Amino acid sequence: MRICISIAEKTLDEALAASRRAAEKSPDLIEVRIDYIHPLPDDLMKFKEIAVPKIATLRPPSQGGEFIGSDREKSILLRKALRAGFKVIDIESDSPLLSRAPNEFRDAELICSSHDLHLTPETSRIIEILIENAAKGDVSKAAFKVNSIHDVLSIVEAAMIFSSTDNEFVLIGMGELGGLTRACAGRMKCSFAYASLEPGKETAPGQLDFDTVKRLGDSPIITGIIGFPLGHSVSPQMHNAAFLSLDIPGLYLPIPTRDEELEGLLDLSLELNMMGFNVTIPHKEKIVPLLDKLDDTASKTKAVNTVVILEGEMTGMNTDVYGVAKTFEKAEMRVKGKRVLVIGAGGAARACIYFLTSAGARTSLVNRTRFRADVLADDFPGVQVIEKDDAERLPFDVIVNCTPLGMRGFPDESPISNQVFREGQFVFDTVYNPRITRFLADAQGRGAVIQSGQEMLVQQAIKAFEAWTGKSPSYEVMSEAARGAIG
Ligand code: NAP
Repeated sequence: MRICISIAEKTLDEALAASRRAAEKSPDLIEVRIDYIHPLPDDLMKFKEIAVPKIATLRPPSQGGEFIGSDREKSILLRKALRAGFKVIDIESDSPLLSRAPNEFRDAELICSSHDLHLTPETSRIIEILIENAAKGDVSKAAFKVNSIHDVLSIVEAAMIFSSTDNEFVLIGMGELGGLTRACAGRMKCSFAYASLEPGKETAPGQLDFDTVKRLGDSPIITGIIGFPLGHSVSPQMHNAAFLSLDIPGLYLPIPTRDEELEGLLDLSLELNMMGFNVTIPHKEKIVPLLDKLDDTASKTKAVNTVVILEGEMTGMNTDVYGVAKTFEKAEMRVKGKRVLVIGAGGAARACIYFLTSAGARTSLVNRTRFRADVLADDFPGVQVIEKDDAERLPFDVIVNCTPLGMRGFPDESPISNQVFREGQFVFDTVYNPRITRFLADAQGRGAVIQSGQEMLVQQAIKAFEAWTGKSPSYEVMSEAARGAIG
């Protein structure tokens, strides 16, 4: 698959400078978004020195660009571009210029493009659009705003079907979820992928930078995190730093997935040959019956935070268990025989309680919804469910918060009164953003030894990364990336 660096700069000099820098990276193509240059240039001859095949594009606002001139002005500028050594011109599928192209732009290669900035049609309509554009140009291009997992699936399916024709084509999903189609452009058999010159220079939402697209190649390792919402997650920063440091052609993407999209996401992950993904709120328990296999950690906790896909078979794991175990190990906190209070009864609590009961702790559980705590305790014999008032009176050696209270975006509250904290107690908050929550600050104020969720975060990520790639990422690289992302 070829790579095209897309340049969109506000002045002719900046566009030239960016094109020169792009040429140094030796891409297969450079697209100059002439529509972004203000005022529109009279003379494009200076681009002649850029010895990389170039695409001239004058996109109108209706298709995401800034060209507001007439068809005549557009035709004149495109002809000037051809005289200045541009080899390819991009014309929108509804432009009257297309019918005149064989005469007016005789030696040019023609990209016939369609852009929908609002939605993605169904697979069959996408294929029709690709066929229509292929009939009008040498390369058929279509880009659609993706609003759901279903939209991404429609685009990928259309690409797989259309790629069986001999036509050159580019098919793109725009927006955050569209990142998947950009990362998998090679797998979708697209003729080329558009990339930005560098991060921060994107010419379309979700576009990847040239170095990343080049590193990924045609068969990248694609992973990510599914959940909703995902704004709090720093996992993309951690895993992408690890891929980069090990020079692995891999990418980890945030994949916002609503409840009703979970099954579609599983289909998509198979279609894209993904290596797997992390699972977070609210899918950790819901995904369990949809998988082919569970490892021991997942079947005991009935919660999955990591899915590994091997030859189409999906295995659920719970690397949070490892993250909790490593956290206690590194803090040299041995829990055998200790009285431990766990607050919360969701996925994180299940991972903590699995570790604590396996390690011989005497575990009590308190949760906002008593029923949920009872269900959890049924799965872990020996765990005692208690009321909040009792929890606040009893003496515990260890207290663990497994609720999202205190996490950025959630109420800045502690899940329990500070009466519960004592000198020398070990107090662990699974929340990792911010590092010191109100819960931890209260505990520290009463002389407890505190532990943030950042250690667990890094450790569970290391284990997931190893499961997907078979390689061990550097602890320092991942924790540095997490700290940088959390701030
Ligand atoms: P979950 O399955 O949705 O469970 C959340 C638990 O918190 C439930 O027991 C819920 O009680 C309780 N809760 C929610 N809001 C509450 C509130 N306002 N007051 C009292 N209790 C409340 O979520 P999860 O997957 O277990 O994740 C929980 C937290 O663990 C996350 O926010 C995250 O910070 C942390 N975590 C950290 C790591 C790490 O690597 N450091 C990994 C996983 C999770 P109900 O049963 O009454 O709804």
